[in-house]
Amino acid sequence: MIFENKLDKKYDAWIQWNLTSKCNFDCEYCFGHSTEPNQKISPIKINELLKTLSQSKKIFRIGFTGGEPFLIPNFIEAAKRLTEKHFISLNSHFTSSKVQEFLNVVDKEKVLFIHASLHFDELVNKNLFDRYVSNFNEARNSGFNIYAEAVAYPAALKKINENLQMMKLVNIDFTYAPFFGEINRKNYPESYTELEKSMFGLSDDAIQHHFQKGKFCNAGKNVFAAYSTGKVTPCFQIHETVGNLYSGISLSDDGIFCPAKRCGCPLNYYDTYLFKKSLNNGTK
Ligand code: SF4
Ligand code: SF4
Repeated sequence: MIFENKLDKKYDAWIQWNLTSKCNFDCEYCFGHSTEPNQKISPIKINELLKTLSQSKKIFRIGFTGGEPFLIPNFIEAAKRLTEKHFISLNSHFTSSKVQEFLNVVDKEKVLFIHASLHFDELVNKNLFDRYVSNFNEARNSGFNIYAEAVAYPAALKKINENLQMMKLVNIDFTYAPFFGEINRKNYPESYTELEKSMFGLSDDAIQHHFQKGKFCNAGKNVFAAYSTGKVTPCFQIHETVGNLYSGISLSDDGIFCPAKRCGCPLNYYDTYLFKKSLNNGTK
């Protein structure tokens, strides 16, 4: 999701936090989620986290993703406490029974956006489509910045008209985001045909941002990736540890020139506000 911050919410840095690999969905195109029933889900150490953020003297955007963030037992409390000072964004399949509580207790002005991932097959198979729609409408009617996005998985083209119709009937607009991964030895998103791109509404620009080797990126300067243990790295492709959410983070004065051939989560593209800020502030 590209966040352009049109409302000019002021924050200094973004940490995209992969809270857990656990998910109660099992999407065919997912890379890295776990459905292992005995896998432990650790609660967020809220006090330690707030202390680390406060020591850095910055206002943060904490981007919650996973797996499924609502599976974290104290996720709502963490979101509430964080938004007393910082901002959050959320990627979720948005079918949890806890969504209503989240909407009731978390300050919508501090939620930059909710990316309500639209996984058609799982929503239908698990009989959760109505729940998704009702949670989505509750959030939208309560004034949250929410949008729906599905994965442009090539096999989904078979049902594209059916899916468009389903969403039209419930009056929710949605877009497709590029699939990032491999199918039958073909890498995506670079292997989409022109027809597939046109049917999914994918622009070449959206695809090109996954290939930035040698280009400047603000990873490690004002954008970061974090993992369930709290470990913080400049981005999900660069594994050098630059701190831990529960004990301290070192922010670099410089960004980097992208070392990766392919990038599933281009942080410099997904938050244009912080990317521009990184160019205007200090050396690159
Ligand atoms: S909802 Fe997201 S994390 Fe869960 S299986 Fe589907 S793609 Fe993976
Ligand atoms: S891999 Fe992605 S996030 Fe990391 S430096 Fe390259 S473009 Fe930036």
